[in-house]
Amino acid sequence: MSTIRVRIAPSPTGFFHIGNAKTALINWLFARSTGGTFLLRLEDTDTERSEAQYSDIICEALQWLGIDWDEGPAFGNMPEKGEYGPYRQSERAEIHRREAQRLIDEGKAYRCFCTKEELDAEREKAMAEKRPPRYNGKCRSLTREQIAAKEGMPHSVRFRVPEGATVIDDLVQGTIRVENKEFDDFIIVKPNGDPVFHLAVVIDDGLMKITHVMRGDDHLTNAFRHVLLFQALGYEVPTFAHLPMVLDEQGKKYSKRLHGANVLDWREDGYLPETIVNYLVLLGWTPEEEGRELFTREELVKAFTIDRLGKSAAKFDLKKLQWLNGQHIRRMTAEELRDRVFPILQKAGFDTSTRSPEWLTHMAAICQEKIPTLNDIVGYTDFFFVEPTTYDEKAVKKQWEKVDALERMDKIVEAFSSVDPWNHDTIKAGFDALVENTGVALGQFVHPTRLALTGKSVGPGLFELTELLGKDTALARMQRAIEFVRAHGGAVA
Ligand code: GLU
Repeated sequence: MSTIRVRIAPSPTGFFHIGNAKTALINWLFARSTGGTFLLRLEDTDTERSEAQYSDIICEALQWLGIDWDEGPAFGNMPEKGEYGPYRQSERAEIHRREAQRLIDEGKAYRCFCTKEELDAEREKAMAEKRPPRYNGKCRSLTREQIAAKEGMPHSVRFRVPEGATVIDDLVQGTIRVENKEFDDFIIVKPNGDPVFHLAVVIDDGLMKITHVMRGDDHLTNAFRHVLLFQALGYEVPTFAHLPMVLDEQGKKYSKRLHGANVLDWREDGYLPETIVNYLVLLGWTPEEEGRELFTREELVKAFTIDRLGKSAAKFDLKKLQWLNGQHIRRMTAEELRDRVFPILQKAGFDTSTRSPEWLTHMAAICQEKIPTLNDIVGYTDFFFVEPTTYDEKAVKKQWEKVDALERMDKIVEAFSSVDPWNHDTIKAGFDALVENTGVALGQFVHPTRLALTGKSVGPGLFELTELLGKDTALARMQRAIEFVRAHGGAVA
């Protein structure tokens, strides 16, 4: 196992956003492709906004995507894993307090007794003078005695920003240097004793021995404060990689309110986790093999390298996602597809109890080349479970309202009756013979038959579905269709 240790540190304040999923994936791929360790740490310290159910949603989303963690909190039947826990930030308050105290003891942080009113007044003054609001450093040099005199008074803790400059060699953003005087002495512990995000994230990353911090580029400006804190706390400073955000189709940050922002929306929509993994990585990484887009999870683990992470944000492209999903559906075995669509058929209320596993596999197989999402299986196979009672109106006009329609349908019934044994090839041979004997194009037989058997104009291949329906059902449905055509005035020119 390599020494590489990476993590995803989501805040459970809602659903698991696709941007977070992308960040998780890139960290996970980096760990898996280098023999490193991937951690999940839940940053659930924002008690007002964090709820236990949201933590579960994050774990569930990661599990669905197949992004497994080597170290992380307990979830479901899975116990907490790893030696650097706890992995829920809310359970690390003691550690944070201890480390903050150490900074104070070492003179790297100090207590600030300034009241909210004082600070607000300062801020307003700065705004009026068009200066950036900065802490004026009032409590920076309080003497021991002055501090002792304020014992018991509410206070925050501020970080004493050292002189000099801070440089980050970001793997994605390049080298960036900032003068430390750009920062005022920022608060690291709130008056209620809670650490702020900057302190908690650095303590946790430091003590969890994180080697690479790869996260959204909305944290790039925070990273300078983080480096200062890493140094002050005496931890190894990790390598940073700030990754671009995921943009919507219009090129704006993918809003939480948009469908699909919740990564589990895609599960609802019938997308495969393999597709989402494949798609998300392409939003931030370019494979060495130029133009290649289709990857399985295993192929990604093999091909992934961090030096090919991109700096510019990629726009979401639903068409491409749909295409990829189709590709991944085609790559499965028919048995796998059967197992994945089975719950969807159940949910649709189809009675599958009389069907053998082989029959269901066959059914999945004949849809495999056609369906763009798993959910489309319903529209492609409903006629197997429910006899069609209506027929697609447009198709009726096109196929059945022709002078010779009934004649052709009678011929199809005749052909079906003499097909024996009943399978794809013999059914096809029956149609071929019809074409040969009548001189009428194959489509003139195929389309009316599809309409009669399925009620629709699109679906799986006709000979395949006819075989699966069985001879009796096929004949009965043809008869029913003929009656329908007759009842509706027969063939109109
Ligand atoms: N909880 C932070 C977030 O969700 C984590 C930031 C980080 O990865 O350092 O944005």
